Amino acid sequence: MTAEWEMALHQIENRELDSNQFISDIKNYTKEITQELLSINIPQENIPEIKCPKCQQHNLIIKDKIVKCQDEQCQWILFRMICGIPLSINHITSLITTGKTPLIKNMKSKNGKKFDAFIILKDDHTKSFEFP
Ligand SMILES: [Zn+2]
Repeated sequence: MTAEWEMALHQIENRELDSNQFISDIKNYTKEITQELLSINIPQENIPEIKCPKCQQHNLIIKDKIVKCQDEQCQWILFRMICGIPLSINHITSLITTGKTPLIKNMKSKNGKKFDAFIILKDDHTKSFEFP
């Protein structure tokens, strides 16, 4: 609370200020702040706008654990954690735009063996591995 408001509260207590006036002032003030906050763009790790590889129409939603199509009906989804390696934004961008990630090292197979591979998008838009 600002000093100005405290002063106003005192004035209300002393009946020097109309409390309705005070409330409407506060309302205006919070409205201004809200508008200011809404107009600020908080940068989020520079997430690029990438079109969904399946429907080619909607942009993808990139979250911590998944990448998915905005469109409920398209339902394209990719899990970012692949064989123990989390895909970076760069990986995702190149996977979607070129169909292939850079070589990803030290992925772990189900039997615990480490391997290097490219992740590729197949024609049916699901992921697969390509070995160097
Ligand atoms: Zn889609």
